Amino acid sequence: MKEDNPHVPYTIDELVREAKSAYQAGASIIHLHVREDDGTPTQRVDRFEEAIKAIREACPDVIIQPSTGGAVGMTNDERLQPTLLHPEMCTLDCGSVNFGGSEVFINTEADIMYFSEKIYERNIFPELECFCKSHIDQVLRLYRKNILKTPLHFSFVLGVPGGQTGEPRDFRFMRESIPKDATYSVAGIGRFEFPLAELAIQDGGHVRVGLEDNIYIRKGVLAAGNGELVRHVADIAKQHGRAIATPAEAREILRIKELTS
Ligand code: ZN
Repeated sequence: MKEDNPHVPYTIDELVREAKSAYQAGASIIHLHVREDDGTPTQRVDRFEEAIKAIREACPDVIIQPSTGGAVGMTNDERLQPTLLHPEMCTLDCGSVNFGGSEVFINTEADIMYFSEKIYERNIFPELECFCKSHIDQVLRLYRKNILKTPLHFSFVLGVPGGQTGEPRDFRFMRESIPKDATYSVAGIGRFEFPLAELAIQDGGHVRVGLEDNIYIRKGVLAAGNGELVRHVADIAKQHGRAIATPAEAREILRIKELTS
């Protein structure tokens, strides 16, 4: 919330500002949540439509990836609303996880099957969000049953309070558990954001950073927005000799067209 970092975007103009700064710093995919102007999270399809249109104008070739996570307590169809807009990508949560306190983010196997059916039917490329190693096992189980399809692109979301931590050993466990031809990206929460990103960069993987996951640029210093967080991780990549993909290159790397056309 803005109480935590004033750069957290609520309005459409603020969303565009944050997306554009990330894009200009090198981001090729915009992972997108939307809120009402007062900051309340929503999955309203018309709010997503408005946001996507505005971001598209500011960043013409960027890949837009709405979240289907929504907020704890929303129904599956409520969460799936942005997929009605046929975005190029969206997230698909591959298991349940505690979110601290009394919150449980529920994604049963039946839920995952329902989400995947809708996502493939709408020609969208899913990013398979895994909060712990058992979620990878769940993906592979559904892949063997022909419910999930290749190309498999994972996101290791580590360090959620209540979930698996994002230490180097956690990363290796996740990394070694996915198929050889799969791609992955990491999303480290809080203090895990940059250390985890650096591990993935050195390993040939991909990264997500942003205010959803972490609000600090360094210990005790609030980030000035998504642009600053992306610029920092792009610098780390360059230090390790990794080039920054354009959106067109990202589409090739992830083989997005195999599921969207
Ligand atoms: Zn998200």
